[in-house]
Amino acid sequence: MFWADQLAEDVKDKGFQWIDDGWTASGYAHIGSLRGLIIHDAVKKALDAHKIKSNYTFIIDDFDPMDGLPIYLDAEKYLPYMGMPMRSIPSEIEGKSLADFFAENFIETMKIVGAKPEMISAYELYTSGKMDKAIKLALDNAEKIRDIYKKIGRSDKGHDWYPFNPVCPKCGKIGTTKTIGWDGKEVTFVCEPEMVDWATGCSYKEKISPFGGNGKLPYKVEWPAKWMTIGVTIEGEGKDHSAATGTRDVGNHIAKEIFNYKPPYDIPYEFFLLDGKKMSGSKGLGANARDIAELLPPEITRFMMIRNPKRAIEFNPSGVTIPNLFDEYDKAILAYNDPQTHTDLAKVAEYSQKEGKPFTGFRPRFIKLAYSIQLPRVDVYKEAEDEKGSPLDDSERNEIKRRIAYAEKWLTNFAPEQFKFEVSEIIPQNLSLSSEQKNFLGDLADKFSECGWEGQEIHEIIHSTKKITNINPKDAFSAIYFIFLGKDFGPQAGWFLSSLERDFVLNRISEAIK
Ligand SMILES: [Zn+2]
Repeated sequence: MFWADQLAEDVKDKGFQWIDDGWTASGYAHIGSLRGLIIHDAVKKALDAHKIKSNYTFIIDDFDPMDGLPIYLDAEKYLPYMGMPMRSIPSEIEGKSLADFFAENFIETMKIVGAKPEMISAYELYTSGKMDKAIKLALDNAEKIRDIYKKIGRSDKGHDWYPFNPVCPKCGKIGTTKTIGWDGKEVTFVCEPEMVDWATGCSYKEKISPFGGNGKLPYKVEWPAKWMTIGVTIEGEGKDHSAATGTRDVGNHIAKEIFNYKPPYDIPYEFFLLDGKKMSGSKGLGANARDIAELLPPEITRFMMIRNPKRAIEFNPSGVTIPNLFDEYDKAILAYNDPQTHTDLAKVAEYSQKEGKPFTGFRPRFIKLAYSIQLPRVDVYKEAEDEKGSPLDDSERNEIKRRIAYAEKWLTNFAPEQFKFEVSEIIPQNLSLSSEQKNFLGDLADKFSECGWEGQEIHEIIHSTKKITNINPKDAFSAIYFIFLGKDFGPQAGWFLSSLERDFVLNRISEAIK
């Protein structure tokens, strides 16, 4: 059974379900955050499909401190803000905080991939007083929490540590404050100059109420506190949090032992890896999830993310990842059309849709389109019609148009050399053909002048001529490719030549063997 359906099956008798996911607005949403978002969105789709009532929320952690400077922010300008809550730091846009700025960018990405969670601001959870109950429980049970951190999280916070970080009223920082006392009503805290190495506190010491937005719980306590406060029943997390002794493990213990709350149904999911230095370097691809979301049609981004949460994704747009993904998606659509063949795959196709049912009409392979659009004189719609064997309808034409746009993006920005070519208008310079190659081309030309000009027929002629002239296959094909493309490899030769005018081919060969 497909994992999302299994989940639905597991919770179907457990009443209303609350799916939640979240992300810290401390920079552009990284590609890994997109995986969680889409996985949770697929859960929502599965629960809807199984008629299980549910809600899907997404918490923007905008109250978290700025604890690092993303490379795209002006270091000089933003360094003084380190340690302050993201929502208190101004962005380049007048009246908008950095947290809002990054959140809006991520919400745009959510729209691209068709995820529609209800958005919640963590800061508003605190200021509204909704987190107060959890804050009191956490402070009252500080010792137990220290024990859980120690036993489960393997982290010793010391006997004077309390699970709460106030916003320092003097310097405005939240990342530098340490609570050292709790009298049941107020916390005593110090704004520590040297507690963290990314921000400097102002040494201010005071006693204040921890409630109503005066500060926040540390992340490992805050997560289960949100589960209890909102009523979350389903929430997964990336591998960095799901490992034993990790955030999830600690959170589960705190939920049960401090908040008396049953931890949500877990969906641990694997990393999303972007291949190569090229990505993380100058182009910064993947630093913003939106860049990836724009490389692929939404149903294919979703397909990649949800088909197996337990498998790491190695995404390399400069390799064959993208054409392979299209092929794999097409296979899922075949399964969807005939669910008897591969039920799980059919389900992936279903839950990969932004909305509605999958498009099941005829579509050419992505890689074939990527080749075709580079060839002169090829009508890709006509070619698709020939392949289909009947006229294309409007939705099929639209699908081809969409695929062409993605193929162009891939070819322009990422495709490896072997997928890119251009027919030279004039015969390439530094041509050096052996006499064997010239004989082969000469014989081909004789047969070409009297055959039907179709890919399959040309393909057969090339192979029979190759045999008769006894030339080795590598020399034969490199001769063909070189005189047209200026390189010794190219797309399937018969089909490629048929895309060119016969006279153009014959003239080029006669020029080459002169
Ligand atoms: Zn301070």
